Amino acid sequence: MFEKNVNSFSKKTIEDVNLKGKKVLIRVDFNVPIKDGKITSTKRIVSSLPTIKKVIAEGGKAIVFSHLGRIKEEADKVKKSLRIVAQELSSQLNKPVIFIDQTRGEKLENAIKNMKEGDLLVFENTRFEDLNDKAESKNNPELGKYWASLGDVFINDAFGTAHRSHASNVGIASNIAESAMGYLLAKETKALSQVLNNPQKPFVAIIGGAKISDKIAVVSSLLEKADKVIIGGGMAYTFNKALGFNIGTSLVEEDKIQLAKEYLAKYKDKIILPVDHASAKDFSDQPRILNNLQPLQILDGTMGLDIDKYSVSLFEKELKNAKTVLWNGPMGVTEFENFKYGTEAVAKAISELKDAYTVIGGGDSVAAVEKLGFESSFSHISTGGGASIEFLEGKVLPGIESIQNKK
Ligand code: ADP
Ligand code: MG
Repeated sequence: MFEKNVNSFSKKTIEDVNLKGKKVLIRVDFNVPIKDGKITSTKRIVSSLPTIKKVIAEGGKAIVFSHLGRIKEEADKVKKSLRIVAQELSSQLNKPVIFIDQTRGEKLENAIKNMKEGDLLVFENTRFEDLNDKAESKNNPELGKYWASLGDVFINDAFGTAHRSHASNVGIASNIAESAMGYLLAKETKALSQVLNNPQKPFVAIIGGAKISDKIAVVSSLLEKADKVIIGGGMAYTFNKALGFNIGTSLVEEDKIQLAKEYLAKYKDKIILPVDHASAKDFSDQPRILNNLQPLQILDGTMGLDIDKYSVSLFEKELKNAKTVLWNGPMGVTEFENFKYGTEAVAKAISELKDAYTVIGGGDSVAAVEKLGFESSFSHISTGGGASIEFLEGKVLPGIESIQNKK
């Protein structure tokens, strides 16, 4: 069993470990987007550099590995090789990288044996092992044990997979003498724990995205912890319908209306819903039809795809005095040029807060913030979609839990 402790600060970090001369297994998240054989965002590689640099600077032998995409059949291997990622890492660090195109075997073992202090090795996509009865993803005990046998110390820095129990994180951690969190994992854990367990008040949470069912557990966890919960995006319509408003053909989950009613009754003063909307005849990038009548109603035959300016002012008012802000999920269909206004306006409003601790997570919301160039205005941008959601739900993440506690 893992060493159970809800307080992640009790976990060892890379700073607590003697790295000199050690074979250091470093699990990173190099699951980068690739198009036509080119990496389209190096963010995940860059985020892992502090940990890799530390190991090298301390005279450790850095053995780096990651998953990349999903591997279902032999043919998937061609496009999902970590080779180009290893090349990118080499140029980021301006340092040679030994790339081994295997996930196990003599070639890999010998290359590790020949490493000198400060050397850097990357081995192949851990999910290549999924062709062997999902050995990586199902945490096959033999595989975790084997990978653990290749090193002296395990550093987990892959926050993006911390909510999964795989051979390359939990499997290794359970079979090695010493384990610790890397800088990225420690930073994510610290930021999300602060929001969840020790937020400065007022604490305002903003939740958006498509469906309630995707985020129901986060919404209920945040309703307990935050002072206000702003709900936007597609899931707002189920709440609007629960209030008896006409929502046209907007996204709705009929089986969640009752739950929305319960939340609205229990947290009447906490839940903040949009008061106006931009809609279109169907789910496409048509011009914005504004719906700002009170009481709210979406024009018949149209669907709400974004919030509009009265909602933005209302949200700004709630955000103005916030000392902690957590944001997950866009306010509208940001994929369409005509319906990204609300998300951008909320990003801007948060970025202008002077002394609030602001955290954002979720692929689409983070992309919106980055596109606007607001990265530096947020206290923390989470790199893990699913992992940050499960963390905020209050779940214990196996990738963190399996790391040793501090002495
Ligand atoms: P994140 O990646 O930030 O966690 P999600 O993946 O939960 O966000 O939500 C993003 C999705 O929500 C997008 O695909 C977007 O199109 C959808 N969405 C947002 N607003 C609406 C809406 N009003 N109607 C339908 N879908 C919406
Ligand atoms: Mg998303």
